[in-house]
Amino acid sequence: MTNLNFLEKYGQEDEPYVCASCGNCTLVCPVFRDLKWESYGPRGKLHIVKSILKGESEFDENFASKIFLCNLCEHCTSVCATGISLDRFWEVIRAEVRQRGLMPRPAQFVLDSVKSRGDIMWMGSADRLLWMEDIEDTVKDRILKPAKIAYFLGCNVSLKSQLHDVAKSMIKILEYAEVDYTLLADKEVCCGAPLGWAGNFEGIDEMAEKNLETIRSLGVETVVFSCPSCIQTWMEYSKYLKEENGIELVTASQFINRLIREKRLRFEEQPLVTVTFHDPCISARVLKVIEEPREIIDDIPGVYNVELTPSREDTRCCGSHGLLDVVEPVLSSRIAEMRLRDVTVTPATRVVTECPRCILGFDLAKFTTGYEMKVQDITQLVAESLLPKDEGGDLER
Ligand code: SF4
Ligand code: SF4
Repeated sequence: MTNLNFLEKYGQEDEPYVCASCGNCTLVCPVFRDLKWESYGPRGKLHIVKSILKGESEFDENFASKIFLCNLCEHCTSVCATGISLDRFWEVIRAEVRQRGLMPRPAQFVLDSVKSRGDIMWMGSADRLLWMEDIEDTVKDRILKPAKIAYFLGCNVSLKSQLHDVAKSMIKILEYAEVDYTLLADKEVCCGAPLGWAGNFEGIDEMAEKNLETIRSLGVETVVFSCPSCIQTWMEYSKYLKEENGIELVTASQFINRLIREKRLRFEEQPLVTVTFHDPCISARVLKVIEEPREIIDDIPGVYNVELTPSREDTRCCGSHGLLDVVEPVLSSRIAEMRLRDVTVTPATRVVTECPRCILGFDLAKFTTGYEMKVQDITQLVAESLLPKDEGGDLER
């Protein structure tokens, strides 16, 4: 019998036995939807764990690679008939995969990069300044300036040129609304999300200490994020560092929505745009940020939102979460294609979302499918719709 005592360490030892085999999880799993083999779906994987516990299967490389064929999208967890927190379970199994030295190499590369360079792409802190090119004069006085509000970009938005416009759009919004904000710039380090996805829970502490040290030194009270996975990971920081419970963590859409309600943003009429909002898994199922982006879209004159099916808490994963995009990029992209297919049956010409991974996944899927729709972050849609100040954008403040 294979020793799986590590499950007890994380309070997960009963999970394989409380599964009622109903199959709800399998029906919603994007990996099962593509691969169509029971053993790649969540119910099948739980059964494999049970057979490992009985000594009928091995905890080997084959099993380890299957455990990484998962987006950690929380969809299985949200529909589980017996309330198993499946995402946590997969992370705990991944921790054991790491302990046994069976990590898929691309995932190991990301872990080594976060540990050595503080980011997901082996780039280093100086490269976190590159997105500021063109707007250096606007932001130079914001870098490490003491302020109550901080904008945390995350690795993808900071380092991938394809996403730099998301950060520039957020700066445009903050400046327009005259928000007193600060940027962590080259002192920002990876939030640690990929470490958690690979079961290196202790590694998150290290990233938490570095990011929180900077935040504390600047007197920050609210942190605004462009990436929902960063917030989810920062929520773990509070668990490790109780004294940080006072810091407010908000998504870009929550913060922008607040600025609109305070009448600090004004929009100009857009030339009839039909969009559809794709709920990122973590925003909808974990953070429950569902209405805020829709309210923002409704506030922009000339922009109309049509609902995707499925959406909100039933949203489908874009395929890029949980390290699947690095471990199995082709499968990840096929999952993104499936989600874009949902968009093609709507009249929308544009998909708006609020997660950098969704944007990267959809951009690649657009390339492989030839779909012509535009993919945008909510921040970009807001920034391009602002009424110029000299046309009345600064009235009624
Ligand atoms: S987290 Fe998502 S991808 Fe992973 S098993 Fe559950 S439904 Fe499937
Ligand atoms: S939804 Fe829950 S109870 Fe049903 S098969 Fe999946 S893990 Fe088991």
